[in-house]
Order: sequence, then structure tokens, then C-alpha cells
Amino acid sequence: MEEKIAVYPGSFDPITYGHLDIIKRAVKIFDKIIVAVAHNYDKQSLFTPEEKIEMITEVVKGYPTVSVDTFSGLLMEYMKKAKATVALRGLRATSDFEYEYHMAAMNRSLDDEIDTLFMMTGKDYFFISSRTIKEVASLGGAVAGLVPENVARKLKQKFPQRQKG
Ligand code: ADP
Repeated sequence: MEEKIAVYPGSFDPITYGHLDIIKRAVKIFDKIIVAVAHNYDKQSLFTPEEKIEMITEVVKGYPTVSVDTFSGLLMEYMKKAKATVALRGLRATSDFEYEYHMAAMNRSLDDEIDTLFMMTGKDYFFISSRTIKEVASLGGAVAGLVPENVARKLKQKFPQRQKG
């Protein structure tokens, strides 16, 4: 039987426990999952694609069916090359829905062999977004419990002056 491969695309700037929750649940459904860091719209990213990959690789190291990669350009083309048939996306709140719905419809019009699977975020993670994590970290707030430890460390390095006092 053919392997069921899913791609989990995103900015992952940085990866959070919300993302990890989706990955852990997808592990039970798919033979292989590729966490794919998009770097075509990376201009306003805090972390470089290399830093993101390093952090994600560390976080998913206990999951042998999960791999990490980057892509630029059209997700559908990347997925075809990777022989993946499902794009995985997380939904936190209804506010995510409008954008995700249009994106999924557009992607399907580009390639109707590929489906988007939405997973609802776990109840403990619905308020976590990479954007708010960066905001809190930049103001010197504690992000432990919201992101894995290696990510919290990296955030501290990005905003060192705020962490001293
Ligand atoms: P993008 O910039 O493409 O939205 P993100 O890195 O912010 O990428 O997120 C990638 C995917 O993970 C998106 O589908 C997003 O909705 C989902 N996601 C982000 N944070 C969470 C969370 N806390 N719980 C569940 N899903 C999440």
C-alpha cells in the first residue's frame, strides 16, 4: 500500500506547543509527516529558516516518522515532489477559518488530488500563536510552558537586554 504522507506547512517563527500538539496527533494518522518551513515570505521573520529547522528538528526528534524541510514557491508543487497528498493545518479559532478556507479552496483549484486537513487545536493551546509568543518574549515575559525549552532559550538569545532585570 502506498504511504500516506502529509505536509504540515507554516512559518513556524518559532514552533510552539500548539504546533507540536498538531504534529503529535497527526503522527497517529499518517505514515509520514513533513514539517515544511515556508520561506518565500520570510522577510519579517524573527528566525532564519536554518534556525527554524534546527529548533523543529530538536523538538520532533522523538518522532521517527516526522521530518523537517523548507520550501519556497507553491505548496502544491512542493507536495507533488514530496509525494504528499494531504496538507495539514491547525485551526485555533473561528478567526483562522476565513483565511484557511480560502487558502484551501485555492490550493484545491491548483491541484484537486491534494486535500487540506484541518485539525482543531488542543484546549490548552488555542491561545498560542508565534506572533504573541514573540511579543511576550520581546517584552521580557516568560514563555516557558508555551514553547519547548530549546525554543524558549533561543527567544532569550534574540531578546537578551530584556531578560536581565
Ligand atoms: P502560517 O504563517 O502559515 O499561518 P504558522 O507557523 O503561524 O504558519 O502556523 C502553521 C499552522 O499551524 C497554521 O495552520 C496555524 O493555524 C497552525 N497553528 C499555529 N498555532 C497553533 C496552535 N496554537 N494550535 C493549533 N494550530 C496552530
